[in-house]
Amino acid sequence: MLAVEGIHCRYGRINALRDASLTVGQGEFVCLIGANGAGKSTMLRAISGLMPVAEGAITFEGKRIDGRKASAIVGLGIAHCPEERKLWPQLTVAEHLDLGAFTRRDSADAARDRDRMLEIFPRIAERRDQLAGTLSGGEQQMVAIARALMSRPRLLMMDEPSLGLAPVIIDQLAPVISDIHASGTAILLVEQNAAMALAIADRAYVLETGTIVRAGTAGEIRRDPKVAEAYLGLAAPEDEETGAVP
Ligand code: ATP
Repeated sequence: MLAVEGIHCRYGRINALRDASLTVGQGEFVCLIGANGAGKSTMLRAISGLMPVAEGAITFEGKRIDGRKASAIVGLGIAHCPEERKLWPQLTVAEHLDLGAFTRRDSADAARDRDRMLEIFPRIAERRDQLAGTLSGGEQQMVAIARALMSRPRLLMMDEPSLGLAPVIIDQLAPVISDIHASGTAILLVEQNAAMALAIADRAYVLETGTIVRAGTAGEIRRDPKVAEAYLGLAAPEDEETGAVP
């Protein structure tokens, strides 16, 4: 469905991505993990047309998308839920959902989807007329995800949805993301919270200083000794196998 092939992205003299490649299959759930500054956000920005690609190619459902405008890429079926959430503090929850449907012409269908979002996220349903700027961090994250889903993406990209959220809210968010995937939407999830991402994704990539250094099923990546030590805070993978580490 999505193929990123050997892309390079630069901020001036900083090489944020170097020969990075990844794929997401139809309906697949893929996560991208890595430390601060590894280039994870840059990867999502490159796919959604917010960051120029200096070399390499990105194709979505057989169409070359690098070099296209971000609005055109949304129209092709890719939604990007950015790290900073990018909500408008003076707009209500309901207005954000309407804005998420901006590429759609079927207003009756969009209204039905809006009702569905309010069912998926009952917490924001209670606050549909509340200004986004007055919502908690977890509620804002849910509005950002719901807004992205309003474009009916076939691929939803999420950048650190757990950032700044209390563990109890992250525990509520993970099943929502899994449900979105179960309904047929492919997901590319970027997370520093590797434990959460590897628990819910099918496949994973590890990015280090702009380069993909590991790829495999989420289980394989979780059991990788280096990943366990660097990203999961486990002393050794054997401990995980024997159950010695929670
Ligand atoms: P984080 O988890 O901290 O968001 P990340 O893995 O998403 O990190 P990126 O934000 O993609 O990493 O950044 C990759 C590299 O590019 C870093 O070295 C960063 O400092 C640099 N970078 C990112 N944005 C800019 C910018 N606007 N101008 C210059 N350098 C940038």
